[in-house]
Amino acid sequence: MICEICGKKSDKLSTIMVDGAILHVCSECRKYGREVEIKYGKVDEIRKPKVTTVPIYDEEIVDNYHIILRKYREEKGLTQEEMAKILNIKSSTYRSIEEGKIKPTIDLAKKIEKILKIKIIKKVILFEEGENKSFELTVADIIRLED
Ligand SMILES: [Zn+2]
Repeated sequence: MICEICGKKSDKLSTIMVDGAILHVCSECRKYGREVEIKYGKVDEIRKPKVTTVPIYDEEIVDNYHIILRKYREEKGLTQEEMAKILNIKSSTYRSIEEGKIKPTIDLAKKIEKILKIKIIKKVILFEEGENKSFELTVADIIRLED
């Protein structure tokens, strides 16, 4: 069985509720939500969390954004100069982005996503409690978030 939060393999998974979504998680990730039990389709709360953690959804640029950019720009038959013009940025800036030297801002990344019809922004959950923990959502969670 695989934890739906951290993706680690675990022998025993707990069912928790995070922000209205039911997740099956390992013992370490149990603290991120309220433990629940599903009986005949009904959700019962069986444990109140000691600390309330409020998940905050944030957006981040994926690590291989430059590889995706180059691939889909070339597929669209656009030059780096043309892309820079459309984005209203210097072509040297665009080149640095495609070389992975500069990460685009979220705003710029959104424009790029629209132009190339791609996804280079990922959703992450940040927890304010304790150390600033951040991890990627599993694919299933992203689908859930976009419902
Ligand atoms: Zn876990």
